[in-house]
Amino acid sequence: MDRIYFSRPYLAGMEYTNINASLATTSWHGDGDFTRRATAWLLDRTKAQGALLTTSCTHALELAAILLHLGPGDEVIVPSFTFSATATAIVSRGATPVFVDIEPTTLNVDPAAVEAAVTERTKAVFVVHYAGVACDLDAIQTIADRHQLAIVEDNAHGIGAYLRGQHLGTFGTFGTQSWHDTKNVTSGEGGALLINDGQYLERAEIIREKGTNRAVFLRGQVDKYTWVDEGSSYLPSDLLAALLLAQFQRFEEIQDRRQYVWHSYADGLPAWAREQGVDLMHVPADREQPAHMFYIVMPTHADQDGLISHLREQEIVATFHYQPLDSAPAGIRLGRTPSPCTVSADRSARLVRLPLHAGMSKVDTHRVLEAVTSYRSAS
Ligand SMILES: *Cc1c(COP(=O)(O)O)cnc(C)c1O
Repeated sequence: MDRIYFSRPYLAGMEYTNINASLATTSWHGDGDFTRRATAWLLDRTKAQGALLTTSCTHALELAAILLHLGPGDEVIVPSFTFSATATAIVSRGATPVFVDIEPTTLNVDPAAVEAAVTERTKAVFVVHYAGVACDLDAIQTIADRHQLAIVEDNAHGIGAYLRGQHLGTFGTFGTQSWHDTKNVTSGEGGALLINDGQYLERAEIIREKGTNRAVFLRGQVDKYTWVDEGSSYLPSDLLAALLLAQFQRFEEIQDRRQYVWHSYADGLPAWAREQGVDLMHVPADREQPAHMFYIVMPTHADQDGLISHLREQEIVATFHYQPLDSAPAGIRLGRTPSPCTVSADRSARLVRLPLHAGMSKVDTHRVLEAVTSYRSAS
């Protein structure tokens, strides 16, 4: 029996062509022709004011933290239920991540918990759109306006995700994307910063280019470039942009394939879920999910282990998700948690992510459905 993997990058067709074309040029560094074309696609898709490809989503978050002048003494509110990178970007500036709990229905940051965690040191809120289902941006925006906080959207899960028709990552001051090979489109590693406030466009380019104004020099707007600000090296090679563009060129196909799997689960699991006391992923009617993941919440922690082992016996790889950051060793040492994140802890102990990638066939999908629905809860 072939193993069904949890996630696999998908060769969509143009990868070798684009990389060979990039290799044939004499410039492999960043900001070449493929970077320009991939960036144009991203701007067109998201309608963000500005977009910069970066070496990772983590680096895009760091770039946002630098642009917001975060530093020692500053606090940034983040959900406990997220990947370490959302918090390391804050810690990298010497600022303190303040962990808050999530809402039980979407597993996104709970606006009431955000409000309760605001102090005079709070500078920003880093939200995550879990599974590419938008968090309660209206409520977060209201709180941010009241306390003058910047919003950064960690939209690593949400390329192709919308709230009321607007692409995620374009609501806050900044949005960040990931092209890691576990995400919907990938260049192996990679990311992007979406910029939704024009005043940051120029400085973002400078910080990404080792603190130099090289980008304006390359556009011929100044006659030499020089070191003008702090910065780092956050721009990917044009070879990686060539790979990324290949995936963008087949985005509809990738998404169709992923949506087939997602909808097969959503259509095939409800009867079993009701019987077994399992909760399925919920998508509110005003939000469009991007088939990044399909998760289910088992009745108990024993059933989380039970289902994962039951699937493994049938050569199907499923996984739990997110050890809450507030209780992680570095979270305890480097962050602050004003009140217990009980929903995060509970969901972390019961959540199972099912296999979902563009390379899954219909037969694979139905094999997963059969295997899941043959599981009986131990409780
Ligand atoms: C994958 C992921 C990241 C990190 O992305 P990289 O591109 O690997 O740095 C950050 N946040 C979330 C929520 C993610 O899922």
